[in-house]
Amino acid sequence: MTDWKLPWSASCQCGGVKMRVTQPPMIALACHCRSCQRLTSGAYSLTLMIPETGFEVIEGAPEIGGMHRAELQHSFCPRCKNWLFTRPQGMPFVNFRPATLEDSSWVQPYAETGAQDKLPGAVSGAKHSYPEFPPPSDYEMLMEGFAREGAKPR
Ligand SMILES: [Zn+2]
Ligand SMILES: [Zn+2]
Repeated sequence: MTDWKLPWSASCQCGGVKMRVTQPPMIALACHCRSCQRLTSGAYSLTLMIPETGFEVIEGAPEIGGMHRAELQHSFCPRCKNWLFTRPQGMPFVNFRPATLEDSSWVQPYAETGAQDKLPGAVSGAKHSYPEFPPPSDYEMLMEGFAREGAKPR
């Protein structure tokens, strides 16, 4: 059993929202899609998929922002406006933004999505690359691969 050094503490830029991760991520992803470029104002987004039961907001009250879509709730700090996590409705996981971790130094994406929109010079270091999203039949392989050889806290 791998030591993930859980639990992990995370916080927005202003410290108004604090979060805790208590279960290992299912996978680490980078997404180069145009929506993620706008949401991050950067080249790509980073995501750790965390089982819903392994993620909690322990302080503050995140608000919905971004696309304001019921099926994909982008959650932000109401004060500093950091993008913190996204809840895909009906799915048993949260797409958590690992840049908010107290220690994000180990985070490396295992797969990247939306690569057809990748900006010039943007390199995620991911082992697997998809022009859009992985076909559903690839997820099991990706999650097994991440559990086996994905980056973990040092
Ligand atoms: Zn904040
Ligand atoms: Zn994206």
